[in-house]
Parts: sequence; C-alpha cells; structure tokens
Amino acid sequence: MKKPFVTLDEVKDIVKTYKTPFHIYDETGIRENARKLKAAFAWNKGFKEYFAVKATPNPFILQILKEEGCGTDCSSLTELMMSEAVGLHGHDIMFSSNETPAGEFTKAKELGGIINLDDFTHIDFLKEECGIPETICCRYNPGGVYEVSNGIMDNPGDAKYGFTKEQMIEGYKKLMSLGAKNFGIHSFLVSNTITNDYYPVLARTLFELAVELKEKTGANITFINLSGGVGIPYYPDQEGNDIMVIGEGVRKAFEEIMVPAGLGDVAIYTELGRFMLAPYGHLVTQAIHEKHIYKEYIGVDACAVNLMRPAMYGAYHHITVLGKEDAPCDHVYDVVGSLCENNDKFAIDRKLPAIEKGDYLVIHDTGAHGFAMGYNYNGKLKSAELLKKSDGTIQMIRRAETPADYFQTFDFCDVMKGF
Ligand SMILES: *Cc1c(COP(=O)(O)O)cnc(C)c1O
Repeated sequence: MKKPFVTLDEVKDIVKTYKTPFHIYDETGIRENARKLKAAFAWNKGFKEYFAVKATPNPFILQILKEEGCGTDCSSLTELMMSEAVGLHGHDIMFSSNETPAGEFTKAKELGGIINLDDFTHIDFLKEECGIPETICCRYNPGGVYEVSNGIMDNPGDAKYGFTKEQMIEGYKKLMSLGAKNFGIHSFLVSNTITNDYYPVLARTLFELAVELKEKTGANITFINLSGGVGIPYYPDQEGNDIMVIGEGVRKAFEEIMVPAGLGDVAIYTELGRFMLAPYGHLVTQAIHEKHIYKEYIGVDACAVNLMRPAMYGAYHHITVLGKEDAPCDHVYDVVGSLCENNDKFAIDRKLPAIEKGDYLVIHDTGAHGFAMGYNYNGKLKSAELLKKSDGTIQMIRRAETPADYFQTFDFCDVMKGF
C-alpha cells in the first residue's frame, strides 16, 4: 500500500491558492530519510552525501538537505550556481560532469568543489582550462556486465562514462606529476537498484581498486564515492531497500579490504538523488475529462511535461485517487495527459476506483527525476512546486510558469512581450 502524504481535504485547501497540476514535497519525509542515511554510514567518520542536484533542482530542497549535512553533486553550470546560491562551497560540492563544456571546470574550481573527471583526456582539458587542483577524483568504468545477487545488472561496457582500469592507473600518475595530492574514486554502474547488495558489491570493487591504485601509483586516496543508484520501490507490493543493511554491508567490505591495506581513514561519499527525494514528492492532478472509445480514458490536467518517466521509460508510478483510498479498484483506465503524443500516459490498463471528473489524483514517487525532466513540448507550461513543511503549512517553492516565461526568449513583437 502506498499512502499519500496529503489528504483530499488538504488538497482541496491547497487548490484554493495553487491550481493543479503541481508537485508537492514532504519536508518531514525528506529530513527523516536523510537522517537515516547518515546513521547508516555513521561508522565512517568522513561520510558525506552529495545530493544529485539533477534529481530535484530546487534551492529550497537543497537548503533542507544542506541543513541535514548534505552537499551537492553537480554536473552543469547552473547546478553549480544553485549550489553556490544556497551557500555551499569547497568540498561541499562535487562536480561529476561528463562531456564538460568549456568554462564549467573553472566555475567548479572557483567554488572550491571537488572535480570528478570522467575521462583520461579531461586531465589535459582541465590543466589547460584552469589547472589541476590538489584534490581530484576519477570516475571508474569496469566495463563488461555488472551483476548483483538478485540479478539486477547493467552494462558498463556500453556506458559512455568513466576511465578504464589502465587509464585510472595512468591517470593517477599523470595527475600526481601535475601536482594533485589527494585522490578519490567514483563509479556509478546501475540505476534504481532494489537490492541491499548494490552498494556493498560496488564498494568491494572500488575498495579493491583503491588498494591496487595505492600500490601501483602511491597516490594518497582520501575518499571513495559510491555515487547514486540506490533505488526506491515504485510498485506498491515491492519491498524497498533497507539503508541500515546497506550501510552495514559497505562497512563489512571496508573492514575486510580497506582497513588491512592501511586505508581505514578513507571517507565514503554518496551522490544519491532518487533515494533522497523520489518518495517524498507527489504530482497532484485533477481528472478533467473521461473518454469511452476502444478503451476507457481519464484525461488529467497534468501531462508528460510534468512527469516524463512513464513516457520515456514506460516507468510505473502508482496512482491514488484522493478520497477513494479504500474504494475497490474495479475499473481499468488509461490515465492520460494532453500532449499530442500517444505516449503521454501516466498509467495504462491500470485498475483504479471509479474516477469522476473533478477527482484529484496523486501520482506517487515523483520527488526525484520528476519535475526536473520537464520540458515545454506543445507549449505546455511547467507547474508550481510546493513544500508541505514539517509544521503542516504549505510553501510555494517555485511558481508555475506563465505564457510570459514561455515567450521571454523571443524578441518578436510587442504583442508577445505583453503577455
Ligand atoms: C544521476 C546521477 C546521480 C544520482 O542518481 P540516482 O539514481 O538519482 O541516485 C548521482 N551521480 C551522478 C554522476 C549522476 O549522473
């Protein structure tokens, strides 16, 4: 069972001020989860979570996470600027970019952030752009196929990211010769893992690599960045990860591999996005049409512009019809948005209670990679983002776009400027 963190009465109250559709986030859930993560890795004295800004790029959210001790993981200029705006600097910022445009390493370096290089050739690129910093990280790609115990796997050999093992060794040597003093290892191999094994298995791979790199290069390794990839259960009958078990699994690998190699002081970093935010965001939308042709359709006022994952990946997002939480799911609908694209469907053949026009639907687990992936196809405007604060009040943390926002990059005629 997935239970929304807003009730029908609350939504009826909210829509008096903010129109649907909107994204809403749960401050209490975000904070409690961030504290659990911290507790799970409390055994490692340098532990730090760098929230992946791309998952939920909103400064109010970053501020909450900052208060919980998190830094940010950025991969673009504007993500760096947003981190700066919330007062993050120095080693509170990780810059894990790839195919990095000119100028962005400079910005990251000016902020004092940790630069995580995606490729061997970026060593020269960085050197020429702004010089090699004292602390530097390299992203590792082991190649081949990566599998953990429950069969979840991905194909790093097909992924565009990272250095090969030989390049890691040569890269460290080269960076040392250019003045780098402290080194990190980063790797991101599998997304949205629903298993407590992913981090421990990845940690073992990276810990063994750390020992090898130390032996072969003499580099001073100061952190291992396990990056993102810890998933959440999007389906109501799926069991989620237990972050305490995950932290303990990483600790065990650390004790076995790192401590005997004299690497017991190395810090563990994470760059979680989905795990930090996805369950603590809802997309709230209203049923505005129903249609009976070869299938039964419910048309809602949100569309793929507000949440792209179902259209892009066929991703499942659970839906609760507010006020009908306990009603039998004896109807089958496609729940669809208004784009002129037939993949604009939040649900296909979904069993739901009878839906009437005017009903409010909560689309679950949209707090990460939800609003953030939005676009403006069909001239559709992005929604507001709201925060349900821990005291129960609602704060607008981003207003909805207006036509003026949509037109503001044109310099066409005065009529368009006047909207
Ligand atoms: C996307 C991304 C993350 C976050 O991934 P999640 O699946 O949301 O945990 C972390 N690090 C990097 C480099 C990423 O690209």
